[in-house]
Amino acid sequence: MPTWTIEDAEELYGVRRWGAGYFSIGDNGNIQIAPNHRLPDVTIDMQEVVDEIIAEGIQFPAVIRFHDILRSQVEILNETFADTIEKADYQGRYTGVFPIKVNQMREVVEEIMDAGEPYDYGLEAGSKPELMAVLAYNDNPNALTVLNGYKDEDYLTLALLGRQLGRKMIIVIEKYSELEMLIPLAKKLGVEPMIGLRSKMMVRSLGKWASSSGDGAKFGLSITEILNIIERLKQEDMLHCAKLLHFHIGSQLSDIRKIKEAVSEAARLYAKLVQLGVPLEYLDIGGGLGIDYDGTSSTTDSSRNYSTEEYVADVVYGVKQICDLEKVAHPNLVSESGRAITAHHSCVVTNIVGEIKNTGKQFDTSASEGEHIIVTNMRELTTANDLHPQERYNDAAGFKENAYEAFKLGILSLEEIAKIDTMYWQILSEIQKSLDHDSFVFQELEKLDDMLASQYLCNFSIFQSAADTWAIGQVLPIVPISRLDEKPEVRCSIVDITCDSDGKLRKYIEGTELSDNIPMHALHKDQPYHVGLFLTGAYQDVMGDMHNLFGRLTEVHVYCHDDEPGDFYIEEVVPGTAAEKVLETMQYNTDYMAKTVKKSIDRLVRKGQIAPREGVKWTDYYEKCLAGSTYLKV
Ligand SMILES: *Cc1c(COP(=O)(O)O)cnc(C)c1O
Repeated sequence: MPTWTIEDAEELYGVRRWGAGYFSIGDNGNIQIAPNHRLPDVTIDMQEVVDEIIAEGIQFPAVIRFHDILRSQVEILNETFADTIEKADYQGRYTGVFPIKVNQMREVVEEIMDAGEPYDYGLEAGSKPELMAVLAYNDNPNALTVLNGYKDEDYLTLALLGRQLGRKMIIVIEKYSELEMLIPLAKKLGVEPMIGLRSKMMVRSLGKWASSSGDGAKFGLSITEILNIIERLKQEDMLHCAKLLHFHIGSQLSDIRKIKEAVSEAARLYAKLVQLGVPLEYLDIGGGLGIDYDGTSSTTDSSRNYSTEEYVADVVYGVKQICDLEKVAHPNLVSESGRAITAHHSCVVTNIVGEIKNTGKQFDTSASEGEHIIVTNMRELTTANDLHPQERYNDAAGFKENAYEAFKLGILSLEEIAKIDTMYWQILSEIQKSLDHDSFVFQELEKLDDMLASQYLCNFSIFQSAADTWAIGQVLPIVPISRLDEKPEVRCSIVDITCDSDGKLRKYIEGTELSDNIPMHALHKDQPYHVGLFLTGAYQDVMGDMHNLFGRLTEVHVYCHDDEPGDFYIEEVVPGTAAEKVLETMQYNTDYMAKTVKKSIDRLVRKGQIAPREGVKWTDYYEKCLAGSTYLKV
């Protein structure tokens, strides 16, 4: 037997392939993080972070945020644009914005604004509450604030307030009626707006967000509408307010060719509008810069077939070429990358709290007098090793089906069903072990791996921490934090602690393929087993719901620092939502609940059924649980 190495672990879990230079497997078999792209040799051992979390008495699951990764991503995007612009002799500059819908956590937005300050990096909002946040957090007069989404009068008024404060607030018109609302408002307040026009693009992206462009798109203006708006602005002597042309053809764009097509279409439109006398200065290419979640560098929905450098080069050179041909000045470039900025910086770390397996059911299967013939037949099959595997499988499945039919008719006893079950799973595991996966295997037998896989019960909620894996089939890497120098011998799927059978990760990265289950290490008694769900920083962090009332996770904010032991320190711990808080959002009055439970206990005390001291203990215990964590305390 060749020994298992960390190279084998790397091959299996693909940590470097999706890790983007931040994640790798150390010689000690632990996940390592190099959070600062400028200091690739300063690495944090993830197990040490986990140990410190345990030492501080923090409960899992926890979101771990690596702020240095966030900063690195902001720097990389801005510097890639700056470098490419210089190399291409491009005349405009890059002033990107971060769309806060991707992760509205205050600490995340603050870190991004701080890291982006030298580049005049701004923010994008798509709703009124987001605009209110952005007004307070983007006070750099040179940075843009781009305002998308449908707008009412309050939204527009707040935007004009931003203009009063000297900010570059760009109101992107999504539909014609917004302009009719804006014009009188701006006049009344005597504030000159900066206007953007969102074009409904003809190029169709691939993947989950294909409907973001084309005639049926929810947002954006047709060419006819754009021309009407220009006419209207001219009438009002406001054409000089039109500053930006915007498009967004979808998130997680997997194919670079669609991006090139979109850039050509938009650059041509930009040039033609400028030739018509519209004094545009900015071309905003929206979001869509993808993440290689599955590490395959392909056009699958969870990957991308290009690098950030290639994306930036295609944008810069693409716009330059068309503007040069059309003899129009190069616009300043804006992008609204959200996923690409935030996905890597956070992960969910939690513990496996148990294992559920079909082969675990054991019942004494020895023959008993007068047993039913189906039971005898199944027993004979347990030793029929020379039978063709497919035939043996067919027989076992047939006997099991017959047995359950017979049970329904009252012919088989509960004990007999337990024997049938035990022998059935025994036979299936024998068949699975006998199969040689390198040669041809009957299709039905391929399913055996999945049928026999264990379920690892993971202390988290899919609906809270990995909503997109459930909603849109997104793939997220899940990898043990340690023991990667040890061969993982248990095939399993990961299920969560919600009482929902959908609460299960459905796809796993196994090498360069996607699989229905994944090898993990055998669980040892009294030895916690921690796994990390990675790349959760975009959308997943903030999309969680109230399913089963689990609420938000505890957050641990980690900073890299080479003077600290382990090169890191935990800067802040934000406790997860307490049980009483999630109950209150569902309109429960927890004081009333505590009082009611206390009353019931008091009644028992009065009747003398429990001692007064014990009654007080139970009352306190109930109140303590209300204030405590919603997740499993293990
Ligand atoms: C969602 C959204 C984005 C962010 O897209 P990413 O793919 O996460 O970069 C940018 N702009 C608009 C208009 C959006 O709706």
